[in-house]
Parts: sequence; C-alpha cells; structure tokens
Amino acid sequence: MTLVAGSATAGYGRVPAAPAQPPQTIVFPVLGPVEYIDDFGAPRPGGPHQGIDILAPKRALALAAEAGKIKFWTSSATAGCMLYLYGASGTTYYYIHLNNDLTAKNDNKGKCVAGTAYAKGLKNGAKVAAGQVLGYVGNSGDADGGPTHLHFELHPNGGKGVDAYPWLQSGQHLLFASGRGTAFTLDLRGTVSAVTADTLRIKAASVTAWPMRQGQPLSLKVVVNVPSSAIVQTVKGMGKPGTPADLLDAKPGQKVQVWTGAAPTTLKAERGGALNASLVSLLPR
Ligand SMILES: [Zn+2]
Repeated sequence: MTLVAGSATAGYGRVPAAPAQPPQTIVFPVLGPVEYIDDFGAPRPGGPHQGIDILAPKRALALAAEAGKIKFWTSSATAGCMLYLYGASGTTYYYIHLNNDLTAKNDNKGKCVAGTAYAKGLKNGAKVAAGQVLGYVGNSGDADGGPTHLHFELHPNGGKGVDAYPWLQSGQHLLFASGRGTAFTLDLRGTVSAVTADTLRIKAASVTAWPMRQGQPLSLKVVVNVPSSAIVQTVKGMGKPGTPADLLDAKPGQKVQVWTGAAPTTLKAERGGALNASLVSLLPR
C-alpha cells in the first residue's frame, strides 16, 4: 500500500478521532414481550418525538443496551424517572418514564430511586455490563396515566438523537436477565425443530428463568446441548411420570420441555447460547 505524504496514519503520530459509532448490535433494552413502531419524529405536543416508545408491561425489566456507565436523572417533570447510559462505544442512551408506582395501581407514590424506578441495588454512577438490569418500565413524567412504556433514545457520540428503530429491529432479545455470575436454570418449552445425538434445536415458545421467576412467552430458536449426563424421557403429559428415552427419538414438530442445568449467568447464556440440558421431556404432539 502506498502512503500519501502527510496522510494521518498510526505510524505518523496523532490520528484525528473518528466520530464514535453506536454498536452494530445492541441488547434490546426491554426484557420480554414488547410492542413498538417507528415513531421517531412523530408529532407530539412538545415537538417531534425524539425516541421510540417501547410498550411493555409495568415493571418489565429495562436492560443496558451496551456496557457503560449510568446516571440517574430525577428532576425532569416530563421525563419522570429517567436514566442515562453512557455506552462504551461513545453512544448515550436515554431511558425515560421508568416506574414510580409502589403498587400495581398508578399511584405515583414511589420516588425515582433504586428498587422502584432503577434496579434494586443499582448505584448512581455505576458501571454496568451489557444486558444488565437498569430499571423498571413505567409511566412516570408526562406519560402518567397512559400505557406503560420505555421511551428510548439513542444519541451517537453523545450528540443529537437519531432514530433508534433499526437498532431495535436488529437488537439481541435476551431470554432472561440476572446478576452476572449468579446461577440460573431455565425451563424452556416449545417444539423440536431438529435433533442430533447431543444437541436439540428448539422453537421456544416460552421460557421461565429461575430463581428469578422470570417467565415470558417468546418466539426464538434455541440450540441446547444435551450432554450424556442429561436425563431424556418421554412423558405422556405435563406432570406425568416419564419413561427413559433416547434423544434421537425426538421428532421435528414434537412438543418438548427442557430444564437447563444450573450455570453461571453470562451475556452469552442470556442470549440463549451455550445452554446445557439436564432434563429433556418429550411430550405428545
Ligand atoms: Zn416517547
């Protein structure tokens, strides 16, 4: 390669910093079932909408889109309980309208504090991992009384907000969220799509994570390793005693329930990777 005289390269001292780019793939900022459309720029009373409204059940978990540092923001009447995530990529994310209720009702009696708006135990200024629980979806601020949702903004290089829709569309939906390193077990239910001697490909229809008791419907293809130590059984119905079976007895389209062995929480596991079965129950079609 020919170097043009005067061109900035690593070998010639300082290289002007390129503007930071958001990560190609972010962790989807809400766990579980959501609904959203591309409503960036939509007309709103205060001007064009600066984020995407992600509708989710009250107190659904808001997750870190990437690793970074957080800041609580509690003094905006319109945003309500808000959080900034300063991503390691240089992108800043806004999490707006977090929960401010103490009961299942829209009581507005809670403060913008950890355990109500922000994740239990989370400290203002803390460093967070990608996928870490940051807070709880709500309808604080000028969303009060309306459907609970996360107003999510994405600001590349900490500058003007851009349409986060493409990032949400390609975002990694997590199966569950837990403290990194703490043990988890999953109860996965769905149908078999393919099988080998030691793997099971499942079209998962629901997942429950323990001991967090997070349960959610989903539609996700998951590959589970089935080590020789795993128990494989045929069961005539949910909760009925099983009879020993061979993994290769599993037929595509067959209903299946898989318990994973207890394993430490990692982002990879939260994304449904490197899961190991401890019990596979093949159910009637
Ligand atoms: Zn909004």
